[in-house]
Amino acid sequence: MPHPFRTIEETHNALKNGTLTVRALVDEYLAVITEKNPDINAYLEVFTDIDEQVSRAQTMFDNGTATMLTGIPVAMKDNMLIKGHVASASSKMLESYVASYDGTVARILKEHGAILIGRTNMDEFAMGSSTENSAFGRTKNPLDTSRVPGGSSGGAAAALAMGGALISLGSDTGGSIRQPAAFCDLVGMKPTYGTISRHGLIAMASSLDQIGPMTHTVRDAEILFEALSVHDPMEATSVPVEKRISTHTEKKKIGVPRKMISQEGLDPEILTAFEISLDKLKTQGYEIVDVDMPLSEHALAVYYILQPAEVSSNLARFDGIRFGLSEDGNTLLEVYEKSRGKGFGKEVRRRMILGAYILSHGYYDAYYAKALAVRSMIEKEFETLFEQVDMIATPTSPFLPFVAGEKVADPLAMYMSDFFAVPANIAGIPAISLPAGHAKNGLPIGLQLMAPLFEDKMLFTCGKAFLGE
Ligand code: GLN
Repeated sequence: MPHPFRTIEETHNALKNGTLTVRALVDEYLAVITEKNPDINAYLEVFTDIDEQVSRAQTMFDNGTATMLTGIPVAMKDNMLIKGHVASASSKMLESYVASYDGTVARILKEHGAILIGRTNMDEFAMGSSTENSAFGRTKNPLDTSRVPGGSSGGAAAALAMGGALISLGSDTGGSIRQPAAFCDLVGMKPTYGTISRHGLIAMASSLDQIGPMTHTVRDAEILFEALSVHDPMEATSVPVEKRISTHTEKKKIGVPRKMISQEGLDPEILTAFEISLDKLKTQGYEIVDVDMPLSEHALAVYYILQPAEVSSNLARFDGIRFGLSEDGNTLLEVYEKSRGKGFGKEVRRRMILGAYILSHGYYDAYYAKALAVRSMIEKEFETLFEQVDMIATPTSPFLPFVAGEKVADPLAMYMSDFFAVPANIAGIPAISLPAGHAKNGLPIGLQLMAPLFEDKMLFTCGKAFLGE
């Protein structure tokens, strides 16, 4: 059983001075996975090439080329391509798809000699907030197995929370890193859009998708972010490093959108924990002021127009001919119908149908064009707000980790999970979820901080202060 959790730095030091070997470290995590994964279902697959990875990493220590990430066990979300491994996005559609190349994050991690332990369960194609939409069974929350671990990166969160990896990578299109982090008592960070490459990330809603770290400490998230946030010529929206300009100097003023928070049928225990968090930030020298974000209250509505539209476009390629599961049929249409009907689960189909409707000739202007217009207004709202404050704080999720099955029949209730998370994706700004106390029944609560574009570091600095790291 590993140490309640290890940090990257202490593990690196132990590996460097030889008090720990990569083999012994990895074996600790593998033992936990063997014991707990059959019940938790965090991992869909533990890779069979771990032995080679371990010896490569140990060699890097032995010949002095090790970096901070060398030998560190990482859990990968099942939508990130790793050459020679299945990447299924937890969908029947891609169940037997084997990646023919490394996505950029996998490539960088391999260059560092990090140990890619396996691929973790997720909501199918990253649509969902509970990891119940996976085609391969639900993932349980290791902190209370009757409850969900959040989603869509629920497997990545559960892998960490059960002690089956030291760090993990998730993707966040509308909260999928931050909400599961909050549900599993972890740090989860969605970086500024365009900082970590999406090359080799199975696309869901491309203008919103962002890979980011899930960790036990803010410092670990920072180390992982720094290693991965490089410009990538393979990715059109990857921002050149010289354009990643941070201009804020003060970094001490935090805005709280009181009206947005109070409107939302927030769990009273979450509100209490939130107030305690604000007090804690005050004692650390942060100034807390009320702000108004009237447009961001509509971010979720905007999201559920733009996201399905992009989904219907991105997932059109899985037609049984070019990509994905292929079923026989007598006509081309029958091939499409059977392949897509069998390959995609219910939630994915719901979004694709919505998206096709939204983008159709008669409704494009009324829905898609309007949502795009509101999106730029939300971006402006944040720009203006960040002239007054350096960060914005909200709870991460309006409710505590819920019991499995509770929201499956009510998609709108499920969608509300991301009420506070989605504005950051709409505006492309960085946001972090920090462990911020527990409810009376012991369930974890998350605090979300958002910062201006390219001010990712500000979140790490504040997060470390907040958690006393
Ligand atoms: N829960 C949201 C959805 O279902 C967000 C998912 C995500 O961030 N990948 O779309």
